[in-house]
Parts: sequence; C-alpha cells; structure tokens
Amino acid sequence: MGYYCMRCKRHVEIDNKVYRGVRCPYCGYRAMRKERSEVIVKQVKAV
Ligand SMILES: [Zn+2]
Repeated sequence: MGYYCMRCKRHVEIDNKVYRGVRCPYCGYRAMRKERSEVIVKQVKAV
C-alpha cells in the first residue's frame, strides 16, 4: 500500500497490518495519507 507523509510528503510503503501504529520513517510524523485518495498521477509512457 502506498502512503505519503503529510509533513514531509515522502512516499512510504506500509503494509495494511502495520498501519494502525504507523509512523513516518523519515520524520516520525504520525499522519499518513493514502496516496490514491488525493494524489493521482497518471503515468503515461511517452512513445
Ligand atoms: Zn514524514
């Protein structure tokens, strides 16, 4: 599952089982947001 930290905006991979006690490994912030809910990045391959 992809999340990002709401403080440092870093991408963090978190397993669903571990999520309840999750913390940003970079800054220690405890508010994480699901990547898909707001940040939608379409990756289009340039041919
Ligand atoms: Zn962070």
